[in-house]
Amino acid sequence: MNVVLLGAPGVGKGTVAKRLSERYGIPHISTGDLLRSAIDRATPVGLKAKSFVDSGRLVPDEIVTELVETNLRSPSASKGFLLDGYPRTVVQADALASFSSVDRVLNLVAPKKVILERLSGRRTCRKCGVVYHVKNIPPRKAGVCDSCGSGLYQRSDESPEVVMERLSVYENETSPLVDFYRNEGLLVDVDATLDVAGVVRQCVAAVEEGVSDE
Ligand code: AMP
Repeated sequence: MNVVLLGAPGVGKGTVAKRLSERYGIPHISTGDLLRSAIDRATPVGLKAKSFVDSGRLVPDEIVTELVETNLRSPSASKGFLLDGYPRTVVQADALASFSSVDRVLNLVAPKKVILERLSGRRTCRKCGVVYHVKNIPPRKAGVCDSCGSGLYQRSDESPEVVMERLSVYENETSPLVDFYRNEGLLVDVDATLDVAGVVRQCVAAVEEGVSDE
């Protein structure tokens, strides 16, 4: 089952992808996580990507596409994958189609006000990358990851200015993918204003029952 998660930054793609990954035993491949890890390790990809990620701009298509292709070819993705944060441009969607099929695209939708509230309260585990929200998904102990006990932090690209840039990049470069995948009959809209369980329920229905109205 090859699933793409679409939606604005902060809408909750990573949280949903993690739940679906546990449910179906297929990997959650987040290009944002892969790039942040490359930046932390100062790999050649990380060094090239850093200034783009820090400023909220898109990393060049060919760099991200190579990362994704390598991950999709790994044996862990042989039964399927949940792609979170890729594709983000039509060029990337065309590239993905050249090396993999896509069975379903889940389009997580929420008003800008909800997205801004989610982004400003988001906290991420420094070690294992699990994502919390100070109000909506609080850790048991403030500032500490439930899973591994490490400290939580606010991502450097979650400052108000960078968030506005990321949202405008989404509008201009990524939102055309909604029509791209709708035209292919693969896209299902998901109401992402509900709580995590409600959003996951809709995603499971979409993945298991197929696209309604087809
Ligand atoms: P995310 O964690 O998905 O919000 O991604 C964080 C940042 O990583 C983005 O603001 C971009 O700078 C970069 N990034 C992640 N995925 C992509 C992609 N598919 N294409 C280009 N840049 C990306």
